[in-house]
Amino acid sequence: MTDEISAGRRPACPSCGRPATVPASTHHTSEGIVRYARCACGRWLVVLAGRVIGANAGAG
Ligand SMILES: [Zn+2]
Repeated sequence: MTDEISAGRRPACPSCGRPATVPASTHHTSEGIVRYARCACGRWLVVLAGRVIGANAGAG
């Protein structure tokens, strides 16, 4: 049984479609590891288990 996730598959920004960059921060939650990565367009991507579950405009 192979349980390998394709290394070439990166979460992409839902806004501009660019692949997410290196995560800026990582948080361990009950649902798994949540990562935050900032896209080139300025949005913050919320990535859970390799999937983008949210994107913030980054205004704060
Ligand atoms: Zn983007």
